[in-house]
Amino acid sequence: LSDETSLKNLEYAARILFLNGHSDTYNGQISYRHDEDLFWIRRTLIGLEETTEKDFLLIDHQGNIVKGAGRIPGEWDMHKEIYSQRKDIQCIIHTHPFHSIIFGATELELKPISHEVIPVLSTKRLDPPFNGKSLSDTLSSTHTLFLKNHGIIAVGKSIPEAVCYAISLEQACKMQLFIESTNLPFSWSNEREAKIKEKLLYNETTINHMWNYWCRRIKTINGKGE
Ligand SMILES: [Zn+2]
Repeated sequence: LSDETSLKNLEYAARILFLNGHSDTYNGQISYRHDEDLFWIRRTLIGLEETTEKDFLLIDHQGNIVKGAGRIPGEWDMHKEIYSQRKDIQCIIHTHPFHSIIFGATELELKPISHEVIPVLSTKRLDPPFNGKSLSDTLSSTHTLFLKNHGIIAVGKSIPEAVCYAISLEQACKMQLFIESTNLPFSWSNEREAKIKEKLLYNETTINHMWNYWCRRIKTINGKGE
């Protein structure tokens, strides 16, 4: 992707996340690998919903700004560590969403009550301190993490993929916390059905369809139609 397209997609990603429960004053990062040595990261002190492409800083692995202006988030080095150790990861989201934080603080296991849970079933909990090695090691078997009593991490091979996982995780936690709190008995998909759903609903094509829909939704909300 060209820098122009990447930055436009990063702006969309911020606004899409905000619409889907990832709101937490001005914290929360979205980063995107530029190349071996550099990555884009959302500056801090600005809400996800007001983020534009100008709010992304191109930084190196020593924390120097190569392009853009603004304050680098304090948690930038988690991104650096993951990019250094996992060459296949192109996009990292770290936010502090309400339901995911609550769910992460419990010992509940995610159950596939609905299809939203399917892509995040393997989410792991990580205890603090959240250093680069433990993050990268745990991410070898999942693309989503609960950072206990703190927030979440979602990673992907693309911006749409990481956004899809981050949204699914918050939705899954919200859904399960709700049903668990009713004390009603409930059912969930078995492993075979969950595997079929994953293949059908969460492949590259369907994730791109979802992404295009989310972008249209942002345009509609902004009054730009299309
Ligand atoms: Zn954080």
